[in-house]
Amino acid sequence: MQRFDQVYIGGQFRMAHGREELELVNPTTEEPSGILVMADAEDARRAVDSAQSAFAGWSRSSKKERIDLLYNLSEAVRARADGLTEATILEYGGPIEQAKWRAGLAANNFLAAAKLLEDFAFSRWINDTEVVAQAAGVAVHIVPWNSVYNAISVKMAGALAAGCPVVVKPSEFSAWQTRLFTECLHAAGAPAGLINVVAGRGDVVGEALTGHPAVRKISFTGSTRVGKTIMAKAAARMTRVTLELGGKAPTVVMEDADLEKAAATAMAAGFANNGQACIAGTRILVPRARLKAFSEAVERAVATIVLGDPRDPRTTLGPLVNRRQFERVQGYIRKGIEEGARLVTGGEGRPEGRARGFFARPTVFADVSNDMTIAREEIFGPVLCVIAYDDEDHAIEIANDTEFGLHAYVVGEDVGRARALAGRIDAGRVAINAVLHEPLAPFGGFKESGIGREYGLYGIEDHLELKAIMGRSDP
Ligand code: NAD
Repeated sequence: MQRFDQVYIGGQFRMAHGREELELVNPTTEEPSGILVMADAEDARRAVDSAQSAFAGWSRSSKKERIDLLYNLSEAVRARADGLTEATILEYGGPIEQAKWRAGLAANNFLAAAKLLEDFAFSRWINDTEVVAQAAGVAVHIVPWNSVYNAISVKMAGALAAGCPVVVKPSEFSAWQTRLFTECLHAAGAPAGLINVVAGRGDVVGEALTGHPAVRKISFTGSTRVGKTIMAKAAARMTRVTLELGGKAPTVVMEDADLEKAAATAMAAGFANNGQACIAGTRILVPRARLKAFSEAVERAVATIVLGDPRDPRTTLGPLVNRRQFERVQGYIRKGIEEGARLVTGGEGRPEGRARGFFARPTVFADVSNDMTIAREEIFGPVLCVIAYDDEDHAIEIANDTEFGLHAYVVGEDVGRARALAGRIDAGRVAINAVLHEPLAPFGGFKESGIGREYGLYGIEDHLELKAIMGRSDP
């Protein structure tokens, strides 16, 4: 069985100091797939020391050196795309087409930063004052299991472009993907210590990293619960934080929407990544008069979902990542029924013919009110709520009645009207009539979905401190 017992520190793979083991399980088969020997607080300390030793050199590196490295990283990731795709399928149950897309996203994140850096101004003048953008310092990047390569690469691209060395703390549930991706990072030939990777428990290695006094920037992607603890801890030293947290995105179906198209878009927004997506459109807001017709369209759309082996290119919905997540999702489905929501499709238990694997049934509830647990909490599985609204003001009221504000979707024939509605939703991104991604646009949340923005220029600026130097040298 594959054993993942190494950390990546100082430009080398080395045995982890930590000894605690975690058994890894293939979510499609429930067979053991490997052992992760988890890094500990000592590994965290070594990784930060290593990054710190690279700071002086990299923060003074030329644009050309940074651009060359970013191109190399992009190429190195692209060269291993097949292996990365395979690891995502095996470890995460990601359907093959989506897994391929994710490997491509990571290569593009490095490429995008390389191109942006060409014209990036690290120095600007305001009258007689020079405004200098200076690398923030050692950056710690903590990422979840549902978006391994994308989350690591987008943060790392911004940090390296800005001149910051990085310590990455991937999830303990993504050892395969971490190992392969780290091999890509190694192949790119970064200076020793610039990139460090330590995988292990959040409450051990994560805590040690976020509490280290040499860390000047923490960029975290994960749950709102953990994000709050990180922010509270960072306050002690005013460590800069960017938090990309949970969501409960509304999908607003407008009065003029074509219901077949709307149902297809709502299912795509809700069930992508096996329903384990921070941007999932999990609250579908539908005009009250069209509820019945929409429910029928949903049934037809769900019937086209192909659930099963993620290696099969026809599969659109794979398993949940692990048993804990499966049980959690089942608990929410039970809760929805107890609270009086009506099942349009799906429900508790495994799908027919699936005795093994952490597969949940694609589930859509109607007659949901926005104060029910299933409408308020992030479920992180294929469970969606349909909520009725009376008019546009009411739709906005419901859309914004949430602690979250990461993403939203609007579906309607009149795009001008849909855009006007989008302007009234409190969310970091709003996609109209499709599930869309613009890698140069900012990404991040309002309210408890986080603080700060990443991607594109925003991801570079996120790792910089501004300094104003006043007084010309020749008066
Ligand atoms: P999680 O918060 O449990 O863990 C995320 C990471 O934080 C993991 O690496 C974990 O080991 C680490 N961690 C846990 N406790 C820690 C601590 N005390 N100190 C430091 N690090 C700690 O989240 P998860 O279950 O891995 O991922 C799912 C969550 O991530 C969902 O809430 C989802 O919405 C969110 N997410 C957000 C985005 C976004 O961009 N906004 C993207 C993907 C996922």
